[in-house]
Amino acid sequence: MRDSFGSRVAEPAAILPAFAAVPRVRTLRVPRTLFLTLATIAAALVCVTHAVVAGSNTVPAAGFGYLCLSLIMLGCASAFWTRARSSEGTLYIRWSFISAAALSAAIGYLPSCTQGFLNTTPARQFQTACFNSSEALYMLAAVLFFSGVTRSIVILDILQALMFSVLRFNLVYSPVTRDHFSANHLLIGQLMALFLFVVAIVACLGAASRAELMFLRTLSCFLALRLISFFLANQVSYVWLRYEHCSFGDVPGEALLVGFALYLLYTRHTAEKEASQIASLRSPSVLVRSLMPSFLTVVNLILGVIVLRISVPLATATISLSLVGYMARTVLLQAQAVHEKAFLESRNQQLEGLATRDPLTGIGNRRSLASVYRHLQAADGCENLSFLLMDIDYFKQANDRHGHLHGDKVLVALAKKLESLASSVPGSHCARFGGDEFALLLLNVSPQKALILAEELRALFSAHAFEAETRKTSLSIGIASLQSAHDLPLESLICSADEALYRAKSMGRNRVEVQPVCEPEFAADHSTASALRIKLQHATR
Ligand code: GH3
Ligand code: MG
Repeated sequence: MRDSFGSRVAEPAAILPAFAAVPRVRTLRVPRTLFLTLATIAAALVCVTHAVVAGSNTVPAAGFGYLCLSLIMLGCASAFWTRARSSEGTLYIRWSFISAAALSAAIGYLPSCTQGFLNTTPARQFQTACFNSSEALYMLAAVLFFSGVTRSIVILDILQALMFSVLRFNLVYSPVTRDHFSANHLLIGQLMALFLFVVAIVACLGAASRAELMFLRTLSCFLALRLISFFLANQVSYVWLRYEHCSFGDVPGEALLVGFALYLLYTRHTAEKEASQIASLRSPSVLVRSLMPSFLTVVNLILGVIVLRISVPLATATISLSLVGYMARTVLLQAQAVHEKAFLESRNQQLEGLATRDPLTGIGNRRSLASVYRHLQAADGCENLSFLLMDIDYFKQANDRHGHLHGDKVLVALAKKLESLASSVPGSHCARFGGDEFALLLLNVSPQKALILAEELRALFSAHAFEAETRKTSLSIGIASLQSAHDLPLESLICSADEALYRAKSMGRNRVEVQPVCEPEFAADHSTASALRIKLQHATR
């Protein structure tokens, strides 16, 4: 895929074809109303039951709290998954990522849940792995496919996201933060949640489409609620109020997340419709595109400084890698900008070529002649100018007799001849005006020389003419010559040559006629007059 500037842009399917090609899972269809009612009842039950047992300050109550957390994350995962199923391409992958992230968090809470109910020692490594992969997936969902950047830049962003995950793992396992319920450990969890939330907010700035913006806003909202929930559960309950086995503080945060999951379920259908309606693309500026990596770098640098307390080599590696990654990304982004500019210029040239070329003969069209004439006037090069306007005689009949393809070849041959004539006279230009009508603008050629050239051209064409229905095709030419065309509009020149051409036609065709150049004011009236004349010509045929 190329972005609006033409450079290679990280296309979802190109980066992760395996993900993009994942077939949609067919699920059993439950009626929408029944499904929503059941989901609402289940959500309310979870919140109410937890609120009832939360204040009992027992280990089973804490286990029940974790079970609720796990169920709520499962609900969020399911709500995200419903969105993933109705999305396409990049968004399908991103919704799947946050769904997987919520699922991973749900699984991560299970060991604490069994600890509460069965008094087992929770597998902390397993838990940390779950939470790490969950955070990394949120991070990837936010930054991945950051719009309008090349594949190599996306790879660098992924590396920054992975570094974030590695640092989190090390922070959680450090001797400083080993105690699962220590203030440090809990603070790091909240810090990570805060970082992720800000990453999602920054990513919103670079959304390439409104559908993507909707996704990133939803992600930011979810991460904000998760942050509030962590704050209430960790900071307020465990650190400030020291509710070690009481999960009372969890309930409001959980209720917020439950409400959010229900909101996602209820608005699923309108979101589907909106996503397909508002997929208009826009290209984020280079500033916005460089904002995300700057932010990721800052996050990793902060974490690197925190890690200094645990391991100096790891901190040094982190700080240097994030800086090198940032520099590499800046260089790549600049290179992309240069490439995009060059592509845009060449695309503009191509479009300009298409707009000013005649597709059949390849020579210029009327627009190109106007531009050449403007340049000549601007460069004071309008001395001794002759303008030849020509039209093939009985071309329609010849077409009818020999077929259009043959007629096309005649047009191309005439265009080639005109092109070679124009290239032999410096500053000259030829153009096809449409149909069988051509023009030749000769520079620094006296009226006499222009007449001789026109006669030669007419004779040459007539010598190779082919049979029409009743007569042979030939060429009629009208010439308008003038000394200086500084203030003369092109239309005046054309109208004079058209007058001459009309005369050549009415005097029996296959001839050259010359006409003095008409005044500018007359040119406007003339265009109406010649339109009328053409109609008359057709009517009398
Ligand atoms: P006249 O002597 O009055 O010029 O008669 P004519 O038959 O040449 O009629 P006119 O110039 O009004 O019509 C131009 C014809 O050129 C009409 C159409 O059949 C033919 N024509 C226009 N464009 C093309 C083209 O791209 N290819 C071919 N083969 N023929 C074309
Ligand atoms: Mg004709």
